[in-house]
Amino acid sequence: MSKEQLECSFCGRNKSETNLLIAGLDAHICDRCIEQAHGIVIEDTKGEDNGVSKADLTLKKPKAIKEFLDQYIIGQEFTKKVMSVAVYNHYKRLLQPTTDDDIEIQKSNIMMVGQTGTGKTLIAKTVAKMLNVPLAIVDATVLTEAGYVGEDVESILTRLLQAADYNLEKAQTGIVFIDEIDKIARKSDNPSITRDVSGEGVQQGLLKLLEGTVVNVPPKGGRKHPDQKFIEVNTENILFIAGGAFDGIEKVIRKRLNMQAVGYSAIKSNDLVADQENILQYIIPKDIKDFGMIPEIIGRLPVLTHMNPLDAKTLRAILTEPKNAIIKQYEKLFEMDGIKFTITDEALDYIVNKAIEYKLGARGLRSLCEAILTDAMFDMPGSEEQEFKVTKLYAESKLDKSGIQKLKAVS
Ligand code: ADP
Repeated sequence: MSKEQLECSFCGRNKSETNLLIAGLDAHICDRCIEQAHGIVIEDTKGEDNGVSKADLTLKKPKAIKEFLDQYIIGQEFTKKVMSVAVYNHYKRLLQPTTDDDIEIQKSNIMMVGQTGTGKTLIAKTVAKMLNVPLAIVDATVLTEAGYVGEDVESILTRLLQAADYNLEKAQTGIVFIDEIDKIARKSDNPSITRDVSGEGVQQGLLKLLEGTVVNVPPKGGRKHPDQKFIEVNTENILFIAGGAFDGIEKVIRKRLNMQAVGYSAIKSNDLVADQENILQYIIPKDIKDFGMIPEIIGRLPVLTHMNPLDAKTLRAILTEPKNAIIKQYEKLFEMDGIKFTITDEALDYIVNKAIEYKLGARGLRSLCEAILTDAMFDMPGSEEQEFKVTKLYAESKLDKSGIQKLKAVS
């Protein structure tokens, strides 16, 4: 049989009509039939189950979820608690047996507001790791309304399918983290002649994904193409987490709070003075709307939470405390060469202060450590040395020589 004549022995589709055709002894099977057969196997083995294989999903109670998050994420107590409940409810909803009481639990998609480098992505990653579900991290800035240069919103689901190794069932219970959601805020209140194809247009496109619907997804990504085969992805049980810095939203919050300060203010004005450093904690959905997100989007990301700015104490803890803390990683790297790596408290404080000075946040900790340790990581392996102690003086001398100083100028 020539290559062109090969066909699926189950449905009879020609090879050219399939995405994949697998050969057996003397038969072939296409991707669709594999998918279907897989569905039958699952259906047959799951008994009374309602669609999601429970074995795959280990659902912990909210307190246990938070304890897991605590191992990786320093501080952010409020967000960790809110996330634990939202994640618990989401997966409880998905595992609920179908009953006839008509109570349908709504999705608990999440909106995280906080400066860059405060741990938004890390939280999403950690939740996915804990649940052992696929995670797609997408950047909202690359999305545009269908038909314009850029990526369609469906590409988000292509990423999720890829993260799930094209296991549709897994993808359908996965997590999507949409970063920089604030960048698709409406560009201005005045309807202008030019269409807002990367702002409001994308928000409209996202709506259907967030609410739970069946979307035709091009499996290999790219633009929708008439001859391309689609995979139908149901987004009903996908947990969406959106994150953004919402630069300038503090102004919106302040304005609202001042207006309320006279009369029935929920927050006493002296509290406000006390916490000028962290205005974000007072955020409410209306502020996000005033920032330029359409109400429907806000309604579909009903769990709103904020990230606290990272102070010196938190940054210091991030260096040493999480399960895979940066310093622990270096200890391990040096240990592999038989070198005992230590760093003094003064040197750690020095790194933290530099991260703050350069306005690099938690992301900068890693670059600073690299700048300080690269010479040693180059010279020491293979040498006689068995100990390496980093003091503040050593850190200072290495940083002075490194290009990282230049960062100061641009920040
Ligand atoms: P965001 O998504 O808010 O921009 P990330 O989650 O990407 O920030 O954080 C960048 C890096 O900073 C992470 O990989 C992590 O190493 C570190 N980090 C940030 N915040 C925390 C935190 N609260 N606890 C532990 N590590 C953190």
